[in-house]
Amino acid sequence: MTKLEPTFNSEILCPVCEKKIKVTKVRSKFVKLLKQDDDFCPYYETINPVFYEAWVCNYCGYAAHSTVFKNVTQSGRKAVLEKITQNWTSREFTGERDYKQALEAFKIVLYNLQVREAPFSEFAKICLRIAWVYRYMNNTEEEKRFLKYSYEYYKKVYTRESSKNSDLDEFTIMYIIGVLAKRLDLTSDAIQWFSRLISLASDPTERERIKPIILENAREQIYQLRTEMKEKES
Ligand SMILES: [Zn+2]
Repeated sequence: MTKLEPTFNSEILCPVCEKKIKVTKVRSKFVKLLKQDDDFCPYYETINPVFYEAWVCNYCGYAAHSTVFKNVTQSGRKAVLEKITQNWTSREFTGERDYKQALEAFKIVLYNLQVREAPFSEFAKICLRIAWVYRYMNNTEEEKRFLKYSYEYYKKVYTRESSKNSDLDEFTIMYIIGVLAKRLDLTSDAIQWFSRLISLASDPTERERIKPIILENAREQIYQLRTEMKEKES
């Protein structure tokens, strides 16, 4: 019997060049979550599926998060063909990924988002993933740089985009903005976002729409931040 590998290749159609391409996926039986940071950055026992979330077409250079890979718009497709495919050198993105390869794939997605003028929610999500990979690598400086981008994009998502565009609901977005502000040492902004979320929950109809864990975490965060502030003052 051959040993079962943690990853496998799956064949899909690239929505931009319409060629058959291979993408690498992680077998669910190998995915063992150990813990998550407050911004949902996950840690796994062995293989990390986050590394495989960026799909890249080796023929045309189109790249996107796996969950929205098929959703390219007509204008987005045109922009990729004109601005990316022209200068693209074909290379392989399948197989197991290390930090460096995961980062490279995410950064190609980020470039694609810029070219395609994609929704802020996609930028926010990819910048957060890049920050996580830098966190795994203990590169604090780059981690903070991408947390800041993600923070700015999530604020834009909250104020300007319908949450239908995002896979996160508006309350989870508020919570993430609060956490990112905290991680960027923007303490009063963080407190403001958590307070806003908690005050929304005082309305019973709103409260029904907020995930209990998000509310509980926001209360915990605000408690910690206020305690820290008091300690600094005294
Ligand atoms: Zn393609």
